[in-house]
Amino acid sequence: MHFFDYNATTPLCGAAREAWLAATEASWLNPSSPYRAAAAVRVRLDALREELAALVQVDPARLVFNSGATEGNNAVFRHWSAVLPADARIGISPVEHPSVLAPARHWFAGRIEWLPIDHSGRVLLEQLDLAPLSAVSVMAANNETGVCQPWPELAKRCREKGISYHCDASQWLGKMDADGLSSCDFLTGCAHKFCGPRGVGFLAVPESTPLSGALLGGQQQGSRRAGTEDVAGVAAMVAALAEVERYRPHCCSEGKAALLGILTSELPGAFALCRTGPTLWNTQSLCLPEFASARWIRGLEKRGFLVSAGSACSTGHSGPSHVLDAMGIPPADASRVLRVSAGWTTGVEAWESLARAILATDADLRSSAADSPSRVISI
Ligand code: PLP
Repeated sequence: MHFFDYNATTPLCGAAREAWLAATEASWLNPSSPYRAAAAVRVRLDALREELAALVQVDPARLVFNSGATEGNNAVFRHWSAVLPADARIGISPVEHPSVLAPARHWFAGRIEWLPIDHSGRVLLEQLDLAPLSAVSVMAANNETGVCQPWPELAKRCREKGISYHCDASQWLGKMDADGLSSCDFLTGCAHKFCGPRGVGFLAVPESTPLSGALLGGQQQGSRRAGTEDVAGVAAMVAALAEVERYRPHCCSEGKAALLGILTSELPGAFALCRTGPTLWNTQSLCLPEFASARWIRGLEKRGFLVSAGSACSTGHSGPSHVLDAMGIPPADASRVLRVSAGWTTGVEAWESLARAILATDADLRSSAADSPSRVISI
């Protein structure tokens, strides 16, 4: 099976598995327990915080471990709703992940400014008016299209104006250079997007910020996130990020280019979305001819390739992707879009095989369409 859905989740890498097993064996005590043996686990957790901080390039004191990006994103909006004035307005892009959109709508109903975007879904800096805003949330890279946002410039402008800036970097971390991410006041990351385990992530918060957490309970992590820390999960997350960072310098867009080269010359009606500006090297959004995404996905799976339509979270939800809709993609085109996202060791040959499988699936779908009656007449 060829896996081309790394933006949904990733397989656990060997280093993460080993780190998880080692921490489960050696550091299983509750880090908050009063005996000396538990102090060793606290020390281990602090060391892991420092290792992660070095990889993400933020101050370790800013890191709060949690269950992943949904929790991190929710925590930011809950926090803003607690500390910002009752009439504060927030700016978000319409292509954010549902775990940003839903809490924004929940805590800031009627107080959201939708930031302007271009046809690729990239925030238009030249049309940006930050004046009415108290806080801004724009992701680093889009999970559906791979489009990279101008987050360094957004972070800079927000800082200059004293606006709090949150960046959901779930799809960026491990794929792109972390340099500069420390300039974001709040930063979300989750392990399962970079070959770590599911259910572990982190939120970087401004130093000494008393986060008004979503969870009521214990005083772990400086009262910023209640609940016993998952030391083994954190160890696996750190090992995974370190591991993919070793591959990252060798990753490039050659595979995507090969796929597009084959499809645009051999499959009339196929075209790439988001052709302008920077995108993640691993992600390609494609509009394919004639058949609905679900049929392409099923046909490709029969040929051993796993791909996606929109984000995995929207599977089961019918209707067009909110991202494609916000980009102005006509519904008829949006219904035929595939998201292809590769991993750190996916070679150009695998991308070429995927292109060949798409061509073969096109033939399969056409022949099954020719075999079925064009219209069912009910009597
Ligand atoms: N943010 C982005 C950009 C994502 O791609 C995802 C996962 O699809 C999430 C947030 C949610 O992550 P998690 O599954 O860790 O809650």
